[in-house]
Amino acid sequence: MSKTGKHLFLSFMLSSALSCAPFALADQSGDAARLEAIQLLLERDNQAALKQLKEFYSTLPADVDYQLRIDTLFELSHAYGDAGDTAQSDASVAQIKDLAQRRNDLETLALLSIADAYTLRDSGKMQAAIAKLDEIARVLKTTKRVEYAIRLEIAYTGLYLSASKFDQALAHNLAALRLTDQLTQHRTLSKIRRLDSLASMYFTMQNPEKSLVVVSEALALTSQVNSPRISANLRQTQAMALAELKRYPEALVAYERSLQSSRDANLPRLEALTLSNIADLYLRTHNFVKAEQVARQALKKATDINDEPAIYNAKANIGFALGGQFKINQAMEYLNPVLAHSREMGDKADIEATVGEIGRMLERAKLYREALEYTREQQKLSDEVFRADRAKTVATLQEQFDADQRQKQIELLARENQIKDADLKNGRLQQIITLLGATVTIFVGIFIYMLYRKVKQTNAKLEEVNQQLEFHSVRDPLTGLHNRRSFLELMKTRGDNIENDRRESDGSNPDCLMILDIDHFKHINDTWGHAAGDAVLVEVAKRLRSAVRDSDQTMRWGGEEFLIYSPRTRPTQLTPMVERVLRSIGSTPVVVGSHTIPVTVSAGYISLPFSGVSEQQCNWEKAMQFADMALYLGKVNGRNRAYGLISLLQPAEVVLPVLDQDFSAAIKNDMVEVVIVHGPKAETLK
Ligand code: GH3
Ligand code: MG
Ligand code: MG
Repeated sequence: MSKTGKHLFLSFMLSSALSCAPFALADQSGDAARLEAIQLLLERDNQAALKQLKEFYSTLPADVDYQLRIDTLFELSHAYGDAGDTAQSDASVAQIKDLAQRRNDLETLALLSIADAYTLRDSGKMQAAIAKLDEIARVLKTTKRVEYAIRLEIAYTGLYLSASKFDQALAHNLAALRLTDQLTQHRTLSKIRRLDSLASMYFTMQNPEKSLVVVSEALALTSQVNSPRISANLRQTQAMALAELKRYPEALVAYERSLQSSRDANLPRLEALTLSNIADLYLRTHNFVKAEQVARQALKKATDINDEPAIYNAKANIGFALGGQFKINQAMEYLNPVLAHSREMGDKADIEATVGEIGRMLERAKLYREALEYTREQQKLSDEVFRADRAKTVATLQEQFDADQRQKQIELLARENQIKDADLKNGRLQQIITLLGATVTIFVGIFIYMLYRKVKQTNAKLEEVNQQLEFHSVRDPLTGLHNRRSFLELMKTRGDNIENDRRESDGSNPDCLMILDIDHFKHINDTWGHAAGDAVLVEVAKRLRSAVRDSDQTMRWGGEEFLIYSPRTRPTQLTPMVERVLRSIGSTPVVVGSHTIPVTVSAGYISLPFSGVSEQQCNWEKAMQFADMALYLGKVNGRNRAYGLISLLQPAEVVLPVLDQDFSAAIKNDMVEVVIVHGPKAETLK
């Protein structure tokens, strides 16, 4: 299960939790020296240092220097956090707040309210979150506490990073890096930490090469400090970048080093995270036995410190590792609670990822019936996620408009006719946003390509505009084909037409529904690039259109899926038509520039009405579902072929429920007549 996002998030949180540099102290009293010694120990052994810190704090005299007390509490809060004890960590922060309030120490209070900015961000109020930081910045403008200024820059970095505003994030990270020069203590350490977060940023910006360069720069400095803690973090970042570049053996070495360092420094949370990442690496390289072994270690560690997300992460990894070893029952024992937890949390994207992964696992184990269930759910979720994403996107755009000329922008958007298709799958989202972005950019001059991910608020007005746009959109901008929406419209009107048309006749001229999906399209994108992928889509659309009759409708169903609707097609005409379609795609490779790209499709088809069954009993949605399952059979049985459901061989009352619940059983038990049409053979490909 690829959980890179989560890893990064956690790692970012960890490194920012660690990033509060120790504070410079005005007078080097005995206590101050003692705290400094503990700070150094924190770098090497969190547990031992935590113990000393607690003891140290409890023996501080009542009249001890205020800043020293605060600094100690800050260190306590971080050390507790790293030991996995969030409750104690929060308690220390509460104590700081209490002290600061009594002292009217506005700077410290401002610093603490950075947490509020994060809360705002998490509830989708990005603009308000930034405004909060700006407010804090005003208080800290003249601060003498360089560490506070650094922490503010880090907070800006984090916020802009989650808003995908990489330019700003980068600027603030560099500002933090520059500020480290003004530190009087632990300067190198602080610098290394900033470099680490810079490297993490490059990773997020999908620039793992650059991330590695920065990590090397930071690693070169580590000899000047004795800190397994920072080494653990750096190796973690390095490993993630290497894994991204598919340099798995090197990534493993880096993870192992990170693991060793986090053990040395007694950092159980980081250790659990690293174990999980290692397990994930083994999963990616299909070394399931190793993956299971390491994931079990991760589970133990996470359970020890009661780190819930890490526990579920480990369980998921164990489950998939068992699944990879075809121990499906055992796997599901781990995966079911993970899935139940995801459902409870209600994060659709998360559920979709888990469900999809389970589907693929079952498919590998050839448990097609079970796989189908999950795959179907995944499809549904992916649709919902898309819709939700789009709502978020719209809301995000709305936030940007708040600044000025809101009304003008809305009108503009309404007129924006280029934005035609709003109902494609996730893959198309980016393009739509880019179009919206381009329009807005011209008028407001803001850089909008980068999107907020977490914005949740919606704006009624823009939503309305969006719905209008959606309503008017019937064509897919890339291929020019009709899109899913127009098909839905067609099906709506079809209901009326069949009454006065075919239903009068003997039902021997049903319509045909055929769903097609390009084989290994992801591979095409990965090998020849997304632009070539787009060109392939355009060419496939063209070929499909010319392979069918003029009265047939060829539609882009989404992503790399197409739908052909052939009204009034006699079942006997079907096979030649399907053959023609498969041949039109598979027999001549698609030429894109200097590349020659072999393309094949898999398909599933069915007649409507199906086998003389009334459409009340088997409506078009149901028929589509069957065609989709037939397509899926084509995929798992080798691709470049079509599966057609021709007729029922037993009464509909018997077969339909079986088809619904156990598609392949219905076929195995000869309840339906199935035709397999093969595409052109590979050797005949030019
Ligand atoms: P399979 O044979 O099982 O269908 O494998 P696949 O790789 O085709 O299937 P999968 O559904 O995993 O991948 C489909 C890919 O199509 C993923 C997505 O990035 C890509 N895609 C979707 N829409 C577009 C598009 O408009 N343009 C391009 N270039 N790629 C797209
Ligand atoms: Mg697909
Ligand atoms: Mg495909």
